[in-house]
Amino acid sequence: MKVQFAEISETGNHYEITENSWFPDKAIRRCAPIRACLQLVRENDSTVTLEGRLQTGVRFVCDRCLTAYDLPVDVRMRLILEYVEESLLPLQETGDAAAGPETLDVIMLAEPAVDLGDILRQQIFLSLPLKHLCRQDCRGLCPRCGTDLNVKTCNCLDQDDRSPFAVLKKLKKS
Ligand SMILES: [Zn+2]
Ligand SMILES: [Zn+2]
Repeated sequence: MKVQFAEISETGNHYEITENSWFPDKAIRRCAPIRACLQLVRENDSTVTLEGRLQTGVRFVCDRCLTAYDLPVDVRMRLILEYVEESLLPLQETGDAAAGPETLDVIMLAEPAVDLGDILRQQIFLSLPLKHLCRQDCRGLCPRCGTDLNVKTCNCLDQDDRSPFAVLKKLKKS
């Protein structure tokens, strides 16, 4: 899915992507079809803007209760793709890039071509949460008996002599 800058028109090329060869299957488990639409516009020989949306779904296992759950993915992106000759890269980085009121993500490319698969992979990873929770207030599993505390409660906490209350009792006794 590599598109050369020279193939991109100044009025814009539109891409509808439903195939999944680019999807990082080894890292993330997909549970919904892929729907992506991308619009590429050539601003000049070294700059292309990309706007688009990627929709799919991924399956995670909750960090707390270990239940599998599906997370819908809906990423909207606006990127500037800059082809920068390798020898110029350090200069570009130290130069003061005046950020306008609306900052766009700039991606530097080492050749005047954009790999749509690379972009989609990058965007999906950026969009995923670091913590995987089936819901914000998931209560998780009891560390003692393994009961899913979302479903029912157990009595372990009452009997747990490591609980803060047990410590207080001991302090009182001594
Ligand atoms: Zn959970
Ligand atoms: Zn328990």
